[in-house]
Amino acid sequence: MAVLDSTGRLLGRGLYNPRTGIACRLLTRRDELVDADLIHRRLTGALQLRQAAGLAGDGFRLCWSEADGLPGLVVDRYGPVSVVQCQTLGMSRLGGWVAGALGRLFPGGSIYRADDATAARIEGFEPQRGWLTGAPSSDGGAEIEIADGPCRLLVTLGAGHKTGLYLDQRENHALVARYSAGRRVLDAFAYHGAFSCHALLAGGGPAVLIESSAEAQAGARRNLEANGVAERAEVRAANAFDELRQLEAAHERFGVVVLDPPPFTRRKEAVEAAARGYKEINIRGLRLLEPGGVLATFSCSHHVTPEMFEGICRDAAGDAGVTARILTPLTQARDHPVLLNVPETRYLTGLLLQAV
Ligand code: SAH
Repeated sequence: MAVLDSTGRLLGRGLYNPRTGIACRLLTRRDELVDADLIHRRLTGALQLRQAAGLAGDGFRLCWSEADGLPGLVVDRYGPVSVVQCQTLGMSRLGGWVAGALGRLFPGGSIYRADDATAARIEGFEPQRGWLTGAPSSDGGAEIEIADGPCRLLVTLGAGHKTGLYLDQRENHALVARYSAGRRVLDAFAYHGAFSCHALLAGGGPAVLIESSAEAQAGARRNLEANGVAERAEVRAANAFDELRQLEAAHERFGVVVLDPPPFTRRKEAVEAAARGYKEINIRGLRLLEPGGVLATFSCSHHVTPEMFEGICRDAAGDAGVTARILTPLTQARDHPVLLNVPETRYLTGLLLQAV
């Protein structure tokens, strides 16, 4: 639809869904057609951006919604496969154009559709899951193995979280690994164990992984096996809040602690409660550090800003009685670009802290 101002001047064209809080998502601010060619141009630009930055490897995010000029569309690349996730009603209807553009960009590649069920319910469309093209392997399976630096990571398309992996943490996995050699590792909220696999391959360990979901624990075990580091790791099926408390009570110490929880809130009104949750785990994470140990701590709640998160960690350090140096602020990987004009495109914030 066209969006006009009160004088009738064209402001842009976008996808309209009156059912949601954001009724119109702009695809262009120019007087140009929203057609298959526009989608192709946007995806071509997104690929060029990643290629120029050296980010277009075996697993990367090709398209990050508003930040790539295609609101409601996420495309992740795993080897020869493009995984398409439509997050709005409008974009779900343009799925055919998206598939066509990907077919032109990656001739011979496969395309898998993995819409998010929650977004589909809010927006009012039927989420699609499955191959839009032939599968890369003849058995039609949805298992892909990708190389992430020295690490092998297994991806089961259409299962688990995101489109398969937390690609947004890819650069942080490698960064934390640099601090891990010779250090005992605690990987809380581990999902498929990517932080641990990288840390163990870099000479860290032994590692303790804490994860409450059975599916994610199984994924972590498979990745640890695939990298030949399973004997130096222990996957604990536990609630991280409880397990952190118990580790602290037992006076355990680690050289590297990772706290990468799911979003504690998706609503602005619940930020206070979320802050209490972040503070609690960070107090415990800091107390579990040996002298000189490092804590990589994250929030992926949209409404928790970097400033807010730093304040929470400062309070936590005060309560924990730990003096900590900020080694570096942390954020989402560069293939998840941030649009200055749309601050919501930045959602992952974190700190790499060192106990002094
Ligand atoms: N660190 C991972 C991503 C973590 S996503 C990576 O880099 O790939 C957050 C994970 O926390 C999910 O796997 C989810 O199942 C798990 N989780 C959620 N609540 C939890 C809890 N209370 N205790 C332990 N794990 C939890």
